[in-house]
Amino acid sequence: MQPATRLIHSGEGDLGHPAPLTTPIYETTTFLFESAAEVLAFNEGRSPKYLYSRYGNPTIVSAEQKVAALDGAEAALLFASGMAATSTILMALTGAGDEVICSAAIYGGTLHLLADLLPRFGLKPRFVSLDELAKPEAMFTDRTKVVWFESPINPTLRCVDVRKVANACRARGVVSVLDNTFASPINQQPLALGVDLAMQSATKYLNGHSDVTAGAVSGSKTLIERIDKARRLLGTITDPAPAYALARGMKTLTVRMERHNRNAQAVAEFLEQDRRVSQVYYPGLPAHPDHAIARAQMCGFGGMVCLDLGGSFDRVSRLFDHVHLFKRAVSLGGVESLISLPVLTSQWGHTDAQLAEAGITRGMARLSVGLEDPQDLIADLDQALG
Ligand SMILES: *Cc1c(COP(=O)(O)O)cnc(C)c1O
Repeated sequence: MQPATRLIHSGEGDLGHPAPLTTPIYETTTFLFESAAEVLAFNEGRSPKYLYSRYGNPTIVSAEQKVAALDGAEAALLFASGMAATSTILMALTGAGDEVICSAAIYGGTLHLLADLLPRFGLKPRFVSLDELAKPEAMFTDRTKVVWFESPINPTLRCVDVRKVANACRARGVVSVLDNTFASPINQQPLALGVDLAMQSATKYLNGHSDVTAGAVSGSKTLIERIDKARRLLGTITDPAPAYALARGMKTLTVRMERHNRNAQAVAEFLEQDRRVSQVYYPGLPAHPDHAIARAQMCGFGGMVCLDLGGSFDRVSRLFDHVHLFKRAVSLGGVESLISLPVLTSQWGHTDAQLAEAGITRGMARLSVGLEDPQDLIADLDQALG
C-alpha cells in the first residue's frame, strides 16, 4: 500500500491486546464490521458491538455505567450538557397538549425552556409553588405527564419532600423527574426515594473540576430506552473525550463530597455566628426551615451556602469585590470555591415582587464551597466582611 493509505490505516482497529486498566478515550465516530451478518445481528439487537458514536461509544458507555451504579439505576445516559439532558428527557416523554408541572423555583434554563421554547411545540407548562408541591395530590390534571422539580433549590436551599411528590406521581401514572445537581448522588438518592428519573448537570459535582460540560439521567430500562431514542434523533449525546474526563472525575466523587459537606458546614457555622451577616441558608443548620426534611432524605447537606447582608446590594457587592480565595464566577461543584450574586445571575431582571415570592433579596451571595482548607475560606470571608 502507498504511504497515504498506510498512514490512515496502520495502528488502527487493533484494540484487543493492550488490556488497559482504565477505559481509554475511543476517539472515533464509527466502528468496523466484518460482514453483512454482523451488521444484521447489530440491527436486530443481538450484538454487543457499536455502530456510530452519536448512538453510543465505549468511553461514553463506560461513564454511563458509573452514573447508573452511583444512582442505583438500571440504566443511565450522558448528554452534552445538563440542558441537553433536560430538553431530551422532556421531548422524549411529552407531546403537544401534554402538561408538565414544574416547580416555580427551578434552574433558570429549565424555566425558560418550559416557559418559552417548548410551548411552541404544544407543550403546556404549569409552574407550582413550594406550598403546592407540599400537597402534591392536588396538583394534577388529566393531561399531566411529567412533574419536574429540584431539591435543594437555588439559592435559598429550600428542600421539597421528595418521597411525597414521587409517591403522588406514581399513584397517578405521572413520570417524576428530580434535578439532583445541588445534592449530588452521594448526598441524595432520588430513585431510592421513589422518583422515576434522576437528572443532573454533570458539569457540577459529578465532574467536579470545572472543566467539562455534561448532563446525565438515570432510571428504569424502559424510560431510559425511550429517552435514548430521542437522544439519537436530537444528537444531544456527549463526546468521548468529555465522557472520559467525567469518568475520571467521578472516581473521586465520594471523597470530594465528604470534604464539600464538611467545609460548607464549617463556613455556614462561621457565618451564622457572625453579627455582620443577617441570614445564612444551609440545610445542615438546625435553623434552616427545611432542616428536618433534609435530614430525613439526605445523607450529607452539600457544598452550597447562601448568605444575606440585610438585603443590601451595596454591602453584598462590596463583599463580592473583596474576597480573594472565593473566585467571582457562576457555576458550582468544582474544587475551587466560587461566589456569585443571585440578583446578577439566576434572578437577573426580576422585580421586587418576584424576588419576594422566591424568598430572595438583593443582599444575597451564593457560595459554592470548594475543597480548600476551611480555615483559609473562613479567613477570606472574615476579611471581606470587614
Ligand atoms: C447548571 C445546572 C443545570 C444546567 O446544566 P448545564 O450543564 O449548565 O447545561 C441544571 N440544573 C441545575 C440545578 C444546575 O445547577
